[in-house]
Amino acid sequence: MITPPLGRVLTSASQGCGFSPDDTDATTCFEPATWHICWGANMDASLACATHMDVAQTFAYLDRHEVGPDCDMPGAAWDFDGKRCIVVGIEQAATEHAEQPLPIISGGAS
Ligand SMILES: [Zn+2]
Ligand SMILES: [Zn+2]
Repeated sequence: MITPPLGRVLTSASQGCGFSPDDTDATTCFEPATWHICWGANMDASLACATHMDVAQTFAYLDRHEVGPDCDMPGAAWDFDGKRCIVVGIEQAATEHAEQPLPIISGGAS
């Protein structure tokens, strides 16, 4: 018996823009994010709404893609080629031609 990965079912409410000039809730944007931004090789990632993607573009970043269902999920990995996030162990396990593990995104709710 295989239990479906219920963790993949989520609302978009958890994928809010993380733009927060003072790093406090009072100034955090909380708009629904449309972009997922990876800042560098250490895989720090941020979610941004369209407005704050414009702000983010004034900084150097490594990669970005539109927010998908696996973005900001625990254990999600950044798929540079696919321009998306995937939760390792579910889709990647089914991709037998994967040559090397995708980088796991750091940061988040920890
Ligand atoms: Zn925003
Ligand atoms: Zn993503």
